[in-house]
Amino acid sequence: MINLLNLDREGLTSFFVELGEKPFRATQIMKWVYQQDVFDFDKMTNLSKDLRQRLQTIACFKLPEIQTMQVSQDGTRKWLVQLDSGNSIEMVFIPEEERNTLCISSQVGCALDCTFCATGKQGFNRNLTTAEIVGQLWLAKKIIIADAIANNKPNFKHAISNVVIMGMGEPLTNFDNVVAAMRIMMDDFAYGLSRRRITLSTVGIVPALQRLKEQCPVSLAVSLHASNDALRDQLVPINKKYPLAKLIEACRSYAQDNRHVTFEYVMLKNINDSTANAHELVKLLRGIPAKINLIPFNPFPNIDYQRSTLEDINKFRDILMQAGLVTVTRKIRGDDINAACGQLAGKVQNLRLKVD
Ligand code: SAH
Repeated sequence: MINLLNLDREGLTSFFVELGEKPFRATQIMKWVYQQDVFDFDKMTNLSKDLRQRLQTIACFKLPEIQTMQVSQDGTRKWLVQLDSGNSIEMVFIPEEERNTLCISSQVGCALDCTFCATGKQGFNRNLTTAEIVGQLWLAKKIIIADAIANNKPNFKHAISNVVIMGMGEPLTNFDNVVAAMRIMMDDFAYGLSRRRITLSTVGIVPALQRLKEQCPVSLAVSLHASNDALRDQLVPINKKYPLAKLIEACRSYAQDNRHVTFEYVMLKNINDSTANAHELVKLLRGIPAKINLIPFNPFPNIDYQRSTLEDINKFRDILMQAGLVTVTRKIRGDDINAACGQLAGKVQNLRLKVD
């Protein structure tokens, strides 16, 4: 049985052409699945009876399952989503006045081991499939709309207006599945999100950035976190493979087609938050259309780092702003339910540690 949720429009078109069907079957199926929430082939009345019967024997739609939901005092929601018997990931919904953002995961755990990240501490099990990535949006949208109807506040168009791939995992080391899922999110026959409303957050896998620019140039956020290589080598170990000079060059090139690149910078007390770091960062980013997102560190059990003081964060921000860099301190959302940046854990069978 082939899970059709794993195929973007191009994949579905080849699937139908190979069956001897017309290519437009792809967009018919997409509308049923992503816009009408219909998974039952029998109800897809614009497909011939023969085709419906044939599909029943060779194809299916298989989604991950919601296990639990937690709601924060600030309205943020976090869902634990079960993928298979041993693995679950987390996704987070962040409602705001002018937009509703869904933060989704791309891997079970993460192999990159950034020293300040809860997901990194878990190790890595596997990549999510395209169905598991786009399935998160499918599930969340259905719940949000059902709630809106129950509360008499239906706003279907903006139920989820933005998607950020900032949950568990490094999306650029699961390139093909993430790109296929993003293409479904952008497809007019599915969710029709503009590429600017999808943000991919990455540590900066340099060769993959070039491919992303060519194949699916969505909004880009790069987890920088340090103003020089020595510091970044410590915090984000993949920096030893893709050091700052190469990363910044790749970002400069990415920004040519996009209006800017966002740089994320976690504020760790006495580690990377000095005024000298701020000045160094200004030099590093000179000439790049950049926005900076300062993320106050979110603690989790058994971690030694501390959050920078608000005073130090403001000082850091002011130096960047005075140098002309648009800088925003990220609001802490959902930390009472461990839904804030870097706190996502889920359940990961850690194969890597087992092998060790
Ligand atoms: N692997 C991708 C996406 C996942 S992390 C990436 O690194 O960008 C999403 C963001 O949360 C990243 O900027 C990450 O560095 C940041 N983050 C991780 N742990 C954090 C923590 N404990 N507190 C605050 N931000 C954290």
